Amino acid sequence: MPQLKELLVEQLQDLLHAEGQLTGALPKMAQAAHHPKLKEAFEKHLVQTEGHVERLRQVFEMLGEAAEPKPCKAMMGLIEEGKETIGEGGDKEPIAADLALIAAAQRVEHYEIASYGCLHEWAGLLGYEKAASLLKEILDQEKGADETLTEVARSGDNEEALDVMPTEGINKSRNGQKASPGRSANKSSHAAVGKNR
Ligand code: FE
Ligand code: FE
Ligand code: ZN
Repeated sequence: MPQLKELLVEQLQDLLHAEGQLTGALPKMAQAAHHPKLKEAFEKHLVQTEGHVERLRQVFEMLGEAAEPKPCKAMMGLIEEGKETIGEGGDKEPIAADLALIAAAQRVEHYEIASYGCLHEWAGLLGYEKAASLLKEILDQEKGADETLTEVARSGDNEEALDVMPTEGINKSRNGQKASPGRSANKSSHAAVGKNR
């Protein structure tokens, strides 16, 4: 199945480029994060991502191919959006800025999960068992990173932060009921937040 191997190698080249870019982007995400748990999540995933580059190189070696990156336009776009998110974060409440960073980062993780999910299967189909298991290890870490980001977004500290946010819709949708009139019915607080930053 020479064409399938060729396809596998092409996709691996795409991921090598994607992961390489991420090692540059994750420190900036960590720096922009407000919540210590989010900072920590980005820093931890940076270390994992360096490991992904290393594992990908091992996979290339197992396939007898040169580890040459091929520009991943999708990741370039996602990172570009991440940069915008970081830039716009300066004008946002810390919690909103963090949630926007999480959204940008989860898009990245989902791209990686889709990619490694396919490549893990293809490597198995082609009988490259060791390569398949290395790709599975990366896949599992991407899934773990995605789950961690969801947990940070839901974390107790954030719930407290949301409770003091004067946006009725957020409290309403989180609790399935209207927030207490004391804090949310106060429409003028929208404007107050804008000024108090
Ligand atoms: Fe990765
Ligand atoms: Fe790509
Ligand atoms: Zn990742």
